[in-house]
Amino acid sequence: MITNIIFILVLLSAIVFFSINVRVIVQNIKLGKALDIKDNVAKRWKTMFWVALGQSKMIKRPIAGVLHIMVYVGFLIVNIEMLEILIDGATGSHRVFSFLPFYSTLVSFFEVFALMVMTACIFFLFRRNIVKVKRFHNTEMTSWPKLDANIILTTEILLMSAFLSMNTADQILQSLGNIHYVETGSFLLSSMLIPLFSGLSESTLIFIERFGWWFHIVGVFAFLNYIPYSKHFHVFLAFPNVYYSKLKPRTYISNMESITNEVKIAMGLIEEPEASDEEIAAFGAKDVKDLSWKNLMDAYTCTECGRCTAVCPANLTGKKLSPRKIIMDTRDRLEILGKGIRKSGKEFTDDKSLLGNYISAEELWACTTCNACTYECPVNIDHVSIILDLRRYIFMEESAAPSPINAMSTNIENNGAPWQYSAADRNNWAEELYINE
Ligand code: SF4
Ligand code: SF4
Repeated sequence: MITNIIFILVLLSAIVFFSINVRVIVQNIKLGKALDIKDNVAKRWKTMFWVALGQSKMIKRPIAGVLHIMVYVGFLIVNIEMLEILIDGATGSHRVFSFLPFYSTLVSFFEVFALMVMTACIFFLFRRNIVKVKRFHNTEMTSWPKLDANIILTTEILLMSAFLSMNTADQILQSLGNIHYVETGSFLLSSMLIPLFSGLSESTLIFIERFGWWFHIVGVFAFLNYIPYSKHFHVFLAFPNVYYSKLKPRTYISNMESITNEVKIAMGLIEEPEASDEEIAAFGAKDVKDLSWKNLMDAYTCTECGRCTAVCPANLTGKKLSPRKIIMDTRDRLEILGKGIRKSGKEFTDDKSLLGNYISAEELWACTTCNACTYECPVNIDHVSIILDLRRYIFMEESAAPSPINAMSTNIENNGAPWQYSAADRNNWAEELYINE
């Protein structure tokens, strides 16, 4: 009875803390500017099934892609077992579904998936820490992102080990005739592990079985509450993020609504609105609040895989720009600003901004807008949209663009063309071609 109450309390605490953490992330994303994305519903669903559920972009690197799918599918399937654990924990039953005729086949199936998850996680740990694949060791992959990945991989291995140990001890206890351990039939993998536990006393086996059970369930709850603080929140956000991703050609650059409105006012097509402090919007983005909610959702969806940075021509040629860092910086800044706003209200300021304190102009101007990063990203993150909005701010609000760009814009203003000669001289190049004769 006491154990059941403890279990229910742990379960409720896990749900409450998780809901609070998710609420914080939703509030942070809502700090972004409004953006209406309601078009092409059918195409959006198709993209979401293909890219997020089907992981089509992951497969471009076949080994890592297949192993990632093994972890993802395996973890989801093994956790179907959670349903039984939850019922057992709340009611005091043991293996409540063991009456099902295919029960041992089902558990054997879960065990195979648990082994798949463990194998893939060991491979990933090896690749990160021993082989040291370059994209996991760029400058932005400092202590926390590195530790975060290792924590998750190790936790998954431990959770799967607990699951297999629990099943192995359970089967031995069944054979010893302990009445609490109902007859289930043999489980495929854990039955092979029985020799490992041979010679252990009944009480030790009960301890192993109970420890494995509690470790598995508490580990899953802890994992659930850890992921909102980790890059692993992408397991939830990958789906909506891909659904709302850009469907237009990658290189399509959206007009700035504020500029379009200025032009329309100048042409007399719309009335100038009554000015209020709220309405005097800056051109471009200086801080995360000037970006759209979709940009901010992108930041929370990043898996820090580094595929974007690995193909970025600017990064590959030694420039300071790393598209992954742009996304990670956006998330870091959003976390700090969101925390400040929750504590001190909407007017909170720490005299810092995404532009300048986190991302430098040098990084931004190194971008060629080639969109190799957006093409590679497995969760359809749009790095270029953030880069462009920050550049727009530098250009239009600070007039601090690099001198060739300033010269080009002065020429457009004065000559109607990016070159430094007057419109009247435009046909000079054709003079000796006698075109007009
Ligand atoms: S669009 Fe910019 S950030 Fe992305 S890959 Fe090309 S140069 Fe790098
Ligand atoms: S932005 Fe996309 S490609 Fe780049 S690290 Fe994040 S998830 Fe990977």
